[in-house]
Amino acid sequence: MKTYRIACIPGDGIGKEVIPAGQEVMEALAAAQTAFRFEFSSYDWGGDYYRQHGRMMPDDGLDAIRDAHAILFGSAGDPDIPDHITLWGLRLKICQGFDQYANVRPTRILPGIDAPLKRCGPKDLDWIIVRENSEGEYAGVGGRAHQGHPIEVATDLSVMTRAGVERVMRYAFRLAQSRPRRQLTVITKSNAQRHAMVMWDEIAVQISKEFPDVTWDKELVDAATARMVNRPASLDTIVATNLHADILSDLAAALAGSLGIAPTGNIDPEGRYPSMFEPIHGSAFDIMGKGLANPIGTFWSIVMLLENLGERRAAGQLMKAIEKATANSALHTGDLGGSATTRQVTDAVCAYVAESSETLSRVA
Ligand code: ATP
Repeated sequence: MKTYRIACIPGDGIGKEVIPAGQEVMEALAAAQTAFRFEFSSYDWGGDYYRQHGRMMPDDGLDAIRDAHAILFGSAGDPDIPDHITLWGLRLKICQGFDQYANVRPTRILPGIDAPLKRCGPKDLDWIIVRENSEGEYAGVGGRAHQGHPIEVATDLSVMTRAGVERVMRYAFRLAQSRPRRQLTVITKSNAQRHAMVMWDEIAVQISKEFPDVTWDKELVDAATARMVNRPASLDTIVATNLHADILSDLAAALAGSLGIAPTGNIDPEGRYPSMFEPIHGSAFDIMGKGLANPIGTFWSIVMLLENLGERRAAGQLMKAIEKATANSALHTGDLGGSATTRQVTDAVCAYVAESSETLSRVA
């Protein structure tokens, strides 16, 4: 039997609720078959760790999780600590440290979800957004001088490299090629940003030649927001820079019904380092500690984690259990207009996983 080492980092806020829920679901999946098991290690990094140690994670923290097969991450964000410290000190430290250069964000309207676009059915919205995750606007290059003086200056430099753009573009074309519609939309802003974004466009043209069977088009990021609302069915796979995709994927999650459902994978496609999976939502301080967080975003992230490990059957089994849960409005949490708790949704998904394993073993 295979053993997968999973590093769990709940982080802050509702991360501390949804990650243990995710572990329970993974235990249920492991108990339901004999092909693999999980070995979890948990790390208490985040805001509380910062208050004790003055940093979000230990300096040698990456070494502790380097050998994991995958990382399951909750959220980084604390009301008492500036956001740039929580983000750069933990999540981005891992993403950049492990060169997880493709941030992948699927969006679908799951069964039973009342999505806000009334002219759009579940078949009209099935997107996967690839976000460049290692450079661009979040390269961390820039600085401040003369702080507090009238001549104060601050810069954040967007840095794009040919190697960085080529690899994420190639990843996106390959992903588009693997999906039934074989269609990619490249998001740009080269009308206004005439250096890096023009190179981005040129590289898209260059890489597209390697994928003659993929139909692709280019869309300005501002126009893309309107297209997502007005013509959702015209999109399938989407690739965008770090900042553009950050914004578009929150819009995508909201259009699909709730931020509480949406998953993410921070992928190192070359498999040199562990990839990291996390719900797209943040710490949600307004509901933390109340047992009200929707764990579906974490569960769907676990589906991505399982796919990344090559466990397609278990991934499919969990996705079906998730869809069964969303189809039942009694299992909707507050973000979906219901009153279910994290516990109730977790128990239901674990039970559906166990049920489906019994069915599968009866059929086999
Ligand atoms: P951060 O700054 O860390 O991104 P945030 O509080 O600004 O966090 P989110 O946590 O991403 O933003 O979400 C905004 C709101 O959406 C929350 O305040 C909460 O009400 C709701 N929300 C987000 N995730 C969930 C969830 N999993 N379950 C229920 N509600 C959620």
